[in-house]
Amino acid sequence: MTTVLSLTDVVKEYPTTPPVRALDGVTMAVDEGELLAVVGPSGSGKSTMLHIMGTLDRPSEGDVELVGHRVSALSDSQLSGLRAHHIGFVFQQFHLLTGYSSVDNVADGLLYRGTPLAERRERARVALDKVGLSHRLDHVATQLSGGERQRVAVARAIVGEPAIVLADEPTGNLDSKTSAGIMDLLHDLNREGTTIVVVTHDRGIAESLPRTVSFLDGRIVADDAKAPA
Ligand code: ADP
Repeated sequence: MTTVLSLTDVVKEYPTTPPVRALDGVTMAVDEGELLAVVGPSGSGKSTMLHIMGTLDRPSEGDVELVGHRVSALSDSQLSGLRAHHIGFVFQQFHLLTGYSSVDNVADGLLYRGTPLAERRERARVALDKVGLSHRLDHVATQLSGGERQRVAVARAIVGEPAIVLADEPTGNLDSKTSAGIMDLLHDLNREGTTIVVVTHDRGIAESLPRTVSFLDGRIVADDAKAPA
């Protein structure tokens, strides 16, 4: 099994007075093809974990490896490049550009790769088709429902075929029926090979996934894998 992302003895301390140890010795690995949840109550370290996994922040101690690259060995600009190629992000608030069409929001996901615009748009159409939005290509974000906006955001995350997708409370702004649709979509994408980590405070969502990593006070307190159905 190929490991996509690994954390070894990761500590993250915020330099407040007194300092806060938001992550307190975290070791875990995500293998290619996994669909897993990082779950815990408010304050348990999930956002910090998301930032460290997403290489948006560096640990105070310990190692992070993304597709075989040690994050600590890279400069900030090398790290941005690695992140742009290998990580897709999905956020609770969608973070779409409001005046842009679905196609252009998704094409934006390839901006940092130097892909020509026509090809970016073509790949965006393919990604939007995958998330069930081929009938909403030219709608601007404000003309879409919440569930459709999140589908656009998922398409933007996968358009570059990243090694891993990190989804931060992806259903946090959606009603329960729409949430179920987004979770079904993540399951479908995973079945097609996308590696996905969902960060959530919602135990129900976490336990619907094949693996659940539970956090409390900056530590992993359980790491449960379910037998495949
Ligand atoms: P969660 O996402 O599970 O709510 P966080 O990772 O946001 O948890 O926070 C973990 C702990 O770190 C909390 O005690 C929080 O108050 C603290 N914390 C988070 N960010 C900062 C920061 N920038 N400076 C100081 N303390 C922080």
